[in-house]
Amino acid sequence: MPERIKVIVNEDRCYLCGGCAGVCPTLAIEVHSSGWEFFQDKCISCRICISACPVGALSAEPLEVSE
Ligand code: SF4
Ligand code: SF4
Repeated sequence: MPERIKVIVNEDRCYLCGGCAGVCPTLAIEVHSSGWEFFQDKCISCRICISACPVGALSAEPLEVSE
């Protein structure tokens, strides 16, 4: 099973283009004029959003999963 991740946004870099939200297969990211939002329960840790961001504003952190 691939490592589960939490997606983190660097708010200084993100210009709210919505690109990451557009490529996320499970709609785990929402981008509004008011900000960037991540929904951990929907994320499947595919990392597509991280490669898709044109300014490298997204990064992954290992998600601690309690067994
Ligand atoms: S890692 Fe994949 S599922 Fe999770 S927010 Fe990014 S694109 Fe969506
Ligand atoms: S693709 Fe990057 S710059 Fe665009 S909304 Fe997502 S995190 Fe922000």
